[in-house]
Amino acid sequence: MSLDKIFQNRIKAMLGDEYDSFEKALEKEPVKAVRINALKCIKSESKANADAAYSDNESNGGNLKNYASDILAKTDAKLSKNIAWEPNGFSYEGGTPGKHPYHEAGVYYIQEPSAMSPVAYLDPKPGEKILDLCAAPGGKSTQIASRMMGKGILVTNEIDKKRAQILSLNVERCGIRNTLVTNMRPDQLSEVFEGYFDKILVDAPCSGEGMFRKNDEAVSNWSIENVELCANRQTDILKEAVKMLAPGGKLVYSTCTFAPEEDELQAARLLNMGMKPFKINLFEGMIPGDIENIQKVYKATEAGSMNAELDEIAESISICTARLWPHKIKGEGHFLAVFTKDGDISLNAGLYGVNGKVKAVKQGDVDAFADFAENFLKNVQIVDEADMAAEASNASEVAETAAKKQKGKDQKKANKKNKKGSKGALKLTGSLKGTLFMFGEQLYLAPEGMPGINGLSVMRPGLHLGTMKKDRFEPSHSLALALSKEDVAYSYNLDSDSQDAMKFIGGESLRVSGLDNGWYLITTDGYSLGWAKYAGGTLKNHYPKGLRIYT
Ligand code: SAM
Repeated sequence: MSLDKIFQNRIKAMLGDEYDSFEKALEKEPVKAVRINALKCIKSESKANADAAYSDNESNGGNLKNYASDILAKTDAKLSKNIAWEPNGFSYEGGTPGKHPYHEAGVYYIQEPSAMSPVAYLDPKPGEKILDLCAAPGGKSTQIASRMMGKGILVTNEIDKKRAQILSLNVERCGIRNTLVTNMRPDQLSEVFEGYFDKILVDAPCSGEGMFRKNDEAVSNWSIENVELCANRQTDILKEAVKMLAPGGKLVYSTCTFAPEEDELQAARLLNMGMKPFKINLFEGMIPGDIENIQKVYKATEAGSMNAELDEIAESISICTARLWPHKIKGEGHFLAVFTKDGDISLNAGLYGVNGKVKAVKQGDVDAFADFAENFLKNVQIVDEADMAAEASNASEVAETAAKKQKGKDQKKANKKNKKGSKGALKLTGSLKGTLFMFGEQLYLAPEGMPGINGLSVMRPGLHLGTMKKDRFEPSHSLALALSKEDVAYSYNLDSDSQDAMKFIGGESLRVSGLDNGWYLITTDGYSLGWAKYAGGTLKNHYPKGLRIYT
């Protein structure tokens, strides 16, 4: 690898004697890893394993490891190690996990170990409002969603339209229900979401020095001018992120570069913006950031001198930052910094609204969907918000109604009643929760508490349920990936080792006998993969054309 001389001098200035082992590490093969997607395994037969990841990790972690090992073995890969900071992360050797039907079913996400660390420090929890500001292609967003377990709101944003489309596809592939995918500039987003989020991740665009081992272009594109350009852009992005964080909220800033102008200097600027350092515990091999690094690289390249005021914040920087060097950990280069905003997060509930309102569906709009829900989706009821409000006025009645609603015949009654007419917004309750709304003929499910979307450039406003055709409903691929076979009345399994599984993701229809006519959720080893419609001895393939993999 031919490294730029200035880059080498800067790294030598920071690492001293360790420089040689750093360069040697760059010659090694990158570490390969996957992150098991809890959203998929929690709904499959492997539920116990997913639970283990989030409950008592000490005593049950072994189960998850066995589970991950079996999953990887199916793809001919061999699990090698747990990733210390991500319970669902495992490094592996060999195999082709990216080319297996499990990948298309969203069973895992391929992500190198260091890239899993910022979300580990963000520590997302179910029910929170979280923003991933620079999100494509979606490694960290899908990790956040996997920890939120479908509860709360994740706004995942990408400034570049093409990359936002890839992000949107990854959100779909991982079966995420509670996400708004936006394609906006940070300053546009902050106009709408001031003080809104409990947690924000800024995984900033950077000079990519930490990716040299994986990406030759990052090596040849390196220049000190680009480092400076990235640093200024990062400060601009962070200013907007700070505006969007609720008092008491948490912000994680990360890069995949070693340049201290993009790392410690940005952390120092966040402190200047009034953010408080959040003391973090480091995992083995991580080292704290050091404000002196700025002075060191300036001296090495005679580029300038450190601002004296930075001295005062040395202690703060050292407690809230981590550097991941590739010669010290099994992963690529990364930097992360963790902050909080003054205030009390518990006071924010309900305080902040955003512009715009989701337009609810009108009476009669969703008849075809109601039929589909009635015949196909188990334990999903369509309810009228106005009726719910009336019911809520009598607490004891509510308890009784909720119990009744569990029963299938009441579910059918509820769905039929709403076909006649609705007074308020129509909601789904049961195994799919949220407010129904339409974009043209597309039917969506806004997760509970989702902010209004007027004024936003939205790629995916919640879970896409499907298309309302003239007199029928066509379910979407997103809905298939968000459902499990336990959620539906009709499913058809394809063994992941079989020709049929590969044929299905290649778009071929399958000859099968003896099924009832209608929609089938196609699964592979129990993981949902897409839709097929059965008629006349054929399961007609509805795998999206753009996603088909031809072998
Ligand atoms: N978090 C992503 C993941 O884990 O998959 C990787 C994000 S990548 C490091 C940074 C992203 O920031 C890129 O997708 C890039 O398009 C986007 N970006 C570039 N300029 C930006 C800007 N001015 N504001 C916000 N995002 C920007």
